[in-house]
Amino acid sequence: MRDVIQLGDISIEVDRKAIKNVHLSVHPPDGRVTLSAPLSTRLEVARAYAITKLAWIRKQQEKMKEQLRETPRRYVQRESHYLWGRRYLLNVVHTEDKAHVTIDHKRITLHVKTGSNRNKREAVMYEWQKSLLHDYIQEIIPKWEKMLGVKVNAYYVQRMKTKWGSCNHRSGTIRLNTELVKKPKDLVEYVIVHEMAHLLFPNHGEHYVALMNRFYPRWREARMELNELPLSHVEWKMP
Ligand SMILES: [Zn+2]
Repeated sequence: MRDVIQLGDISIEVDRKAIKNVHLSVHPPDGRVTLSAPLSTRLEVARAYAITKLAWIRKQQEKMKEQLRETPRRYVQRESHYLWGRRYLLNVVHTEDKAHVTIDHKRITLHVKTGSNRNKREAVMYEWQKSLLHDYIQEIIPKWEKMLGVKVNAYYVQRMKTKWGSCNHRSGTIRLNTELVKKPKDLVEYVIVHEMAHLLFPNHGEHYVALMNRFYPRWREARMELNELPLSHVEWKMP
């Protein structure tokens, strides 16, 4: 059963579950608010609780707006860059050799010619990220071809605006978003398995869900994490 609490311009989706505590979460990217509450929670009680957290909710939503406004990367010294879910600091050094990238536990080092501009640096980084992603995909696809009994005729890695991956059922090919290289590897694996499963069942119908339940039981969690890692979340113990 789902209710909505409206507090001014803020809508809070209330989800009653077999849980002990109340969880209030604000989800990126758009600041959607959800409240999970024990089955017996009355709506007035949930509402009274939400009101006490209103300032907190607004603050989280503000933070998310800030993040959406995040400036594009400039590829300069000490800038943050993500790889496989971890944050690294960028280090830029000059070389007269071919441009390339190296990494240690804390830093990603971009080796470029003196005077290289932003576009050049971005291109070097992008090629490096793509090659890492290719290596990982080539490890994962054969493993799941065996498990699922399916053949991927070809896969492509490219910039995609709105999706993590897609699948062409007819040609037996899948496409993966280059941005995946910034996500934890288990989530990248989930996207690959998700698209490979579409080679068997093109839509998300019951056969598809049954297959995912059997072979990748934590698909729901993975999907949630990818789409909306709740940045912030508070818990309230029920009396
Ligand atoms: Zn799908």
